Amino acid sequence: MAARHIAIIGSGPAGYYTAEAAQKAFGEDVKVDIFDCLPVPYGLIRTGVAPDHQSIKAVARRYEKVALTDNVRFVGNVFVGRDISVAELQNLYDAVVLATGAPKDRDLGIAGEDLGNVFGSAAFVGWYNGHPQFAALDPDLSGRTAVVIGMGNVALDVARILAKTPGEFAGSDIVVHALDRLRESNIEKIVLLGRRGPHQIMMTPKELGELGELERASPHVHRADLPEEAEDALLEPGLRKSVTILRQFAAIPEHIRAEKPVAIEFAFCVQPVELLGKDGKVTGVVVEETEVIRGKAVGTGRREVLPADMVVACIGYRTAPIPGVPYEERAGRFANDDGRILPGLYCVGWARRGPSGTIGTNKPDGFAIVERIVEDIAAGSLGPGSKSGRAGFDRIAAERGLQVVTFRDWKKIEEAEEKAAREGAPREKFVDVEAMIRAKGEA
Ligand code: NAP
Repeated sequence: MAARHIAIIGSGPAGYYTAEAAQKAFGEDVKVDIFDCLPVPYGLIRTGVAPDHQSIKAVARRYEKVALTDNVRFVGNVFVGRDISVAELQNLYDAVVLATGAPKDRDLGIAGEDLGNVFGSAAFVGWYNGHPQFAALDPDLSGRTAVVIGMGNVALDVARILAKTPGEFAGSDIVVHALDRLRESNIEKIVLLGRRGPHQIMMTPKELGELGELERASPHVHRADLPEEAEDALLEPGLRKSVTILRQFAAIPEHIRAEKPVAIEFAFCVQPVELLGKDGKVTGVVVEETEVIRGKAVGTGRREVLPADMVVACIGYRTAPIPGVPYEERAGRFANDDGRILPGLYCVGWARRGPSGTIGTNKPDGFAIVERIVEDIAAGSLGPGSKSGRAGFDRIAAERGLQVVTFRDWKKIEEAEEKAAREGAPREKFVDVEAMIRAKGEA
């Protein structure tokens, strides 16, 4: 039987779990090419997971094992949709799987969103994680108050990064431009804005608990904002644990809290309705009080202005549309039926289901999409298996002069990043594509 050719677009968790599943399902009878628009692999693991959460990033070792097998190949620095189209890839590969994640910020959809020092979390997280697209973001941390919109784990990441001392980044791979800027930060109040109440937070207990262990920052939950304790019994166990942590934060005595110069305030049941600014830069957030009715935030009409020198909206992400690929605008992901988009075209991970779940959620997702591919091959809908696969791609890449980065090249980039690491840090990331390409040549 001729080997089947699978192209996976995106080298983050969903991409590598799909490759691993393909190896398990097809053994030697598959050739997998994993494309990435950056010259470096691992997507969200490198540029999304917080730099002070190195243990989460360790999952990359599992992906590396997959990457180093003969039938899986990393094809870096190739932008699908620009350097080669999805339709062209479909002509070359039996199956094309979009594992492109959700790298775009959702809009708040309120006036003032375009003011200076207002960022979406994809941009802000990309900045401190050295994503080439956001390395030049240049946030101004000279003000006193940062408002972080949203009560999910990304909001926690952003609040924690803003609150930490330089010393607390020891052992992290936060990029030096962000560390230098944070070193000079004047921020002393970080407001976490939740449009619903304590019982509707999306924060997981371990990540929430970290706010209680910071050197110079203390979480501030108003006791009056918490529902009756008896009502916690109805919550699912993870959320109940998070709410218990909120209760512990609310019980911190004022004099203990005052020992720390940075306050992380939880503001519940307020939704942003407008951002105010002066000279093009944000100065405040107009919020409207809400009531939670049947799980939904409903505005009461009562408004107030919260001062803000910077705003980071951590309200979720969208998949980037690709020309010619059906897209569900409202959900911000590819239009798909259980991962199937069109015959031979699939999506997986956040590109399939939207931005929810942990990194591990992508494992069953990757295995499930390979099951769909196996079913479709059995049903004859993917053709006889006579496509040219990677040989065909290599011909096009040569014709177009694409500067493809291989996994071996990445290992050279990685080595150079590790050599450049600060004392105690695992690596100093290159933050622009040119530097990455140079490093693969020099190492
Ligand atoms: P999320 O968990 O969906 O949280 C988004 C937050 O934004 C919610 O509180 C939501 O409120 C709020 N929001 C949405 N639209 C809003 C609007 N227009 N105005 C005001 N608030 C709005 O998303 P996320 O924090 O981006 O995280 C994405 C996924 O990555 C999650 O599954 C998360 O657990 C995961 N993650 C995990 C870790 C970790 O494990 N360490 C770290 C980071 C991210 P409503 O609930 O009212 O909609």
